[in-house]
Amino acid sequence: MSKNNNFKATWTYADAPESTDHIQIKKQYELFIDGRFVKPIKGKYFDTINPSNQEKIASVAEATSEDVDVAVKAANKAFKSWSKLSGKERGKYIYRIARLIQERAREFAVIETLDGGKPIRESRDIDIPLAANHFFYYAGWADKLEYAFPNRKPKPIGVAGQIIPWNFPLLMAAWKIAPALATGNTVVLKPAETTPLTALKLAEIIKESGLPKGVVNIITGAGETGASIVNHPNVDKIAFTGSTGVGKFIQKAIAGTSKKVTLELGGKGANIIFEDAAIDQAVEGIVNAIFFNQGHVCCAGSRLFVQESVANLVIEKLKRRLETLIIGNPLDKNTDIGAINSTKQLKTINKYIKIGLDEGCEIYQPECNLPKNGNWCPPTLFLNVSQSHRIVQEEIFGPVLTVQTFRTIDEVIEKANNTPYGLSAGVWTQKGAKIFNLTQKLKAGIIWANTFNKFDPASPFGGYKESGFGREGGLHGLKSYVKFDD
Ligand code: ADP
Repeated sequence: MSKNNNFKATWTYADAPESTDHIQIKKQYELFIDGRFVKPIKGKYFDTINPSNQEKIASVAEATSEDVDVAVKAANKAFKSWSKLSGKERGKYIYRIARLIQERAREFAVIETLDGGKPIRESRDIDIPLAANHFFYYAGWADKLEYAFPNRKPKPIGVAGQIIPWNFPLLMAAWKIAPALATGNTVVLKPAETTPLTALKLAEIIKESGLPKGVVNIITGAGETGASIVNHPNVDKIAFTGSTGVGKFIQKAIAGTSKKVTLELGGKGANIIFEDAAIDQAVEGIVNAIFFNQGHVCCAGSRLFVQESVANLVIEKLKRRLETLIIGNPLDKNTDIGAINSTKQLKTINKYIKIGLDEGCEIYQPECNLPKNGNWCPPTLFLNVSQSHRIVQEEIFGPVLTVQTFRTIDEVIEKANNTPYGLSAGVWTQKGAKIFNLTQKLKAGIIWANTFNKFDPASPFGGYKESGFGREGGLHGLKSYVKFDD
């Protein structure tokens, strides 16, 4: 058995680590403002850490409100000419960025995995290709805005302040930057403090692409830096993806201003398995819904509902499948579950596991020897839970699944909608009519049928209720970055 991959299974896998010798990481990163890398005015830096071994990777500049002001001024100045450039010309730059991401895909994937702890298989096959696709997709829209909004004259809003989380660092940067540029806006973007490296690599690519200076500014820092962007008077639009708590804070901060805002916040997605579903595929779907990216996914299927008649079978198969999941070195190509992104997040997850136990729920975790250093959490099931349990109601953002049963369609719709969130849901059944019935009655922005966690740049993504508002992706994603005279 491999020393990194401790799991109980009949198969053994040799170590298959992705090499790191092809990547370039600097010791220290500066702020990317007005087309240049500049030192932070107050000279402060913070460490970015590899969560799988707690080792420091690099020092990263911490932007204060003074740096934010310089970045916003640069974006404002650049807006004057960028907003007048033809869509065709804007599109060329966006295509160029997409192609440069493709060229450096391997380097991006390794850095994403080192900085964030996600398995290399996911950063290589999902995060980075999807990020490139997002730029390709919106490059295509840049000169076709009149078709997106027929008989109306869409205009860019101005400077977009964009704040992104740590679970899909490069992909979220792409979701934010690509539609903003396609519609003629300029950008000040802040990646999360635990995962700044791929956004800074993207800054290098943007510089290389020849994008006019000041059109995209990438500044690093934590919550205070984010708050300075939100509060800056010359930022015209805020696009935020992150926790519902910070989302509420942002709404309060901009109340009474003319700033536009889109918020993509937390979730507690229902994954519903009917008795007529293809059970083996559904079990794979359950695993993908909650254990993909260690469960650090706002649209994760974190609440499982199984029809009573097949509940024992599904739970049995699920437990067996969990035994085979490989947890360990994120850089190993066999790894299924990588490291928890930060010590802070691991504490949150452990807090909820304790709450579940204190609430009297039954826990199941496969036997696994977790690596000694770093942040780790085994895949976890909570059985015998009910709607009133906090682990069913609150977002955990980790590899923790609550399992409930149901008898009728009405019952499961009621239970699935009984949550403050409304981002995603999944339905597993062979009956098309059942799928259509549920997709109309489930209050969730994204509903997958016989699959889960599938993303496409052409498909709009966003939530209801405390999951936020506004849509990203597709034609809908353009709307948040334009205004109309009429
Ligand atoms: P988490 O709690 O899981 O770390 P957050 O919502 O705090 O998620 O983080 C998402 C992003 O929001 C990060 O880039 C973070 O730095 C930023 N952020 C945190 N607090 C604030 C704030 N008060 N105003 C603006 N941005 C913030």
